[in-house]
Amino acid sequence: MGVKQLKKKFLRMKNTIDKFQKIVKELLDDEGAKPMAQFIASENLYSEVDLALTKNGLSEEKFEAALKDLVFKTPRTATNAFFNQLFGGRNETAVLGDLLAVILNNSMYTYKAAGPQVGVEKVILREVCNILGWDKSSDGTFAPGGSLTNFMSMVMARDAADKSTPHSGVTQKMTVYTSMESHYSIPKNAAFSGVGRDQVRYVPSDVVGRMDLNALEAMIEEDIENGYKPIMVNLTAGTTVLGAFDPVGEVRAIGDKYGLWLHLDGAYCGSVIFSQKYKHLVDGISHVDSFSFNAHKMIGTPLSCSIIVVKDKRNLNSSFSNDASYLYQTDHDEFNLGKTSLQCGRRNDALKFWALWKSVGTDGLEKIVDHQFDLADVAREYIRSNDSYELYSYDESISICFNYKGIPARDICTLLYEHSELLVGYGSYENDEFIRLVTINAQNSKQDILDFFKTMESFVASNTHLFAPALTEKS
Ligand SMILES: *Cc1c(COP(=O)(O)O)cnc(C)c1O
Repeated sequence: MGVKQLKKKFLRMKNTIDKFQKIVKELLDDEGAKPMAQFIASENLYSEVDLALTKNGLSEEKFEAALKDLVFKTPRTATNAFFNQLFGGRNETAVLGDLLAVILNNSMYTYKAAGPQVGVEKVILREVCNILGWDKSSDGTFAPGGSLTNFMSMVMARDAADKSTPHSGVTQKMTVYTSMESHYSIPKNAAFSGVGRDQVRYVPSDVVGRMDLNALEAMIEEDIENGYKPIMVNLTAGTTVLGAFDPVGEVRAIGDKYGLWLHLDGAYCGSVIFSQKYKHLVDGISHVDSFSFNAHKMIGTPLSCSIIVVKDKRNLNSSFSNDASYLYQTDHDEFNLGKTSLQCGRRNDALKFWALWKSVGTDGLEKIVDHQFDLADVAREYIRSNDSYELYSYDESISICFNYKGIPARDICTLLYEHSELLVGYGSYENDEFIRLVTINAQNSKQDILDFFKTMESFVASNTHLFAPALTEKS
């Protein structure tokens, strides 16, 4: 390339960064004024947003207008009106790390292609293993989401139970155990891994949503009697609805007795490992075989940032490594991360987490986690001191489940969404259905949580006609 062409190329990129800044600044201003994007019913999507792809391109002006319009109409997950899922907020430092990952555009499979970024990933994994009290025989990797780190755990459990499986396929009826309250990726992964959905055993939970260990052991015994081969127990740190923590420490004895792999799915609340005050919720974690958590949930990095660590790294190697001479040409396997990965080309999900961790330290991560529990306490306190509410969830959970004035939860949630007031979801446990407020956005203040209730209450008060049947039934 000539000097002139090079210059042009750099100018184009600089120009692009300017455009990016302009759109982002406008979005931030608009979010400040309107924390909810305008509601667009899915049936009107293509008429209300210009999404069509056409043979001819657009003028720069028209293209920018289309882009901005799309950005402005997209749900705003970073504001104090988003409580719908298990993520939220927009941590600036983590965003900076992720933007740089896009600009650098490395692929994490080899040291040759990713250089120091390999180290970025490795120091995170090492530090997490240290926190768990694991030595150098442990290791881990990143995968595109908690569903897939869970998948990796099931594949390792399968291969550890029968070392011939990677070559000969599944030849026995293997069973896996998980609580009724666990994530839906478990049955999906059973289908993917050849274990089969029918071999997933759903263990009942106790009143506070934790796996019932007596029931677990009875189910294992019954399966053995019927000729099945139990291979793993999947435990959950932060169940999807109630945010409950399975009794990790107590399961090891059962695992040892029957030779089972123990995985702790901490996608939602596994980040309590960073908190002195709340790490007791995963007491015994050092005894599991694998542990996964999503930094894009409690830690608040952009999606996705999912980590799995394995106590004995040989399991990672034997289940996921494949030789590829065109790829692994230099450096030791320790630095060629592709050897223990689910993927080949892999985006750099580590840099955003590293940037945040480097900047605030482990103490800073602890503050992020503790603040979410403080916000949850504020919400529970508000509900408990107000007769119009009924509380369904428990202390030491950042999922606050409640009903208001006996109005069906799904009605309130749907109407709040359709009227662009708040994004919040509903869930159920046993026979109750309720609103689930998640205090996972550490950028929210206590006032933001109180404002959530105020917004919901005044919406109900000024729209009594929408809720009429429920409200009159109650009085
Ligand atoms: C969110 C979640 C998952 C799935 O993680 P993704 O990154 O969304 O795939 C798995 N398990 C639990 C408990 C979760 O909360």
